[in-house]
Amino acid sequence: MHSNSNNACISAQDIQRYSRQLLLSSVNDEGQLNLANSHAVIIGLGGLGSLAARYLAGAGVGNITLVDGDIVEISNLQRQTTYNEMHLGELKAKSLYSELRKVNSHLNIRFKSLFADSNNLPTLISSATCVLDCTDNTQVRKQVNLATYQARIPLFIAAASGLTWQALNLPQNSASCGCYECLVNSIDIREDCMSQGVLGPVVGMAACHQATQALLFMAKGFDADIKWGQYLNGNAGLGSLQSFALPPSLSCEVCNDSD
Ligand SMILES: [Zn+2]
Repeated sequence: MHSNSNNACISAQDIQRYSRQLLLSSVNDEGQLNLANSHAVIIGLGGLGSLAARYLAGAGVGNITLVDGDIVEISNLQRQTTYNEMHLGELKAKSLYSELRKVNSHLNIRFKSLFADSNNLPTLISSATCVLDCTDNTQVRKQVNLATYQARIPLFIAAASGLTWQALNLPQNSASCGCYECLVNSIDIREDCMSQGVLGPVVGMAACHQATQALLFMAKGFDADIKWGQYLNGNAGLGSLQSFALPPSLSCEVCNDSD
């Protein structure tokens, strides 16, 4: 009975591998096949991206592209849980690729040891089902927002600093919610953990939320029971979570294409 209308089947081995999530109605057989056919592009492989990537690989996302030009440094090990002392001085993209291959050797995982920018982003994301923005830089985030909006590819953003974490799911095809540019124009963004400092597991909370949202979307598309265009702000010390609607800004240069 493990088949869908295309007669694609989940192998006996994969039924065993993914048995815990196949029991969920938000995944099940249909969603598992959708995950296998999905392509997630992960921009930034620090504390957010390296952990989100581990969960996506574990869940069976069939195609994953890892993008980061950085190398692993000793100060990363406090919060970037997929790396260890063996990786120091190595390219993050390559290190993470080799670790994820050990998790599931059947996935199509590619790595790009480069920094995403406005020139390479359109090509990097062109075949993506969704993009995970795991960078720690507002300028790069703006470029990722623009590229995904122009390509109409859903974008999952997460960030953390201090004891707080933030997240935002953007459909990038809707007039009913804004985009990252709208957000930047409406609030004062503070998410640079280099200048603010951050506690390791707080980054992990943001990454876990981001990975959960992206997986639910890749399993069920826009039928997934997730919220779009809501800016989440969590305080890991107090255990509190606030949510704000992000309406489109009439002056946004990215998502307001009425003129
Ligand atoms: Zn906008």
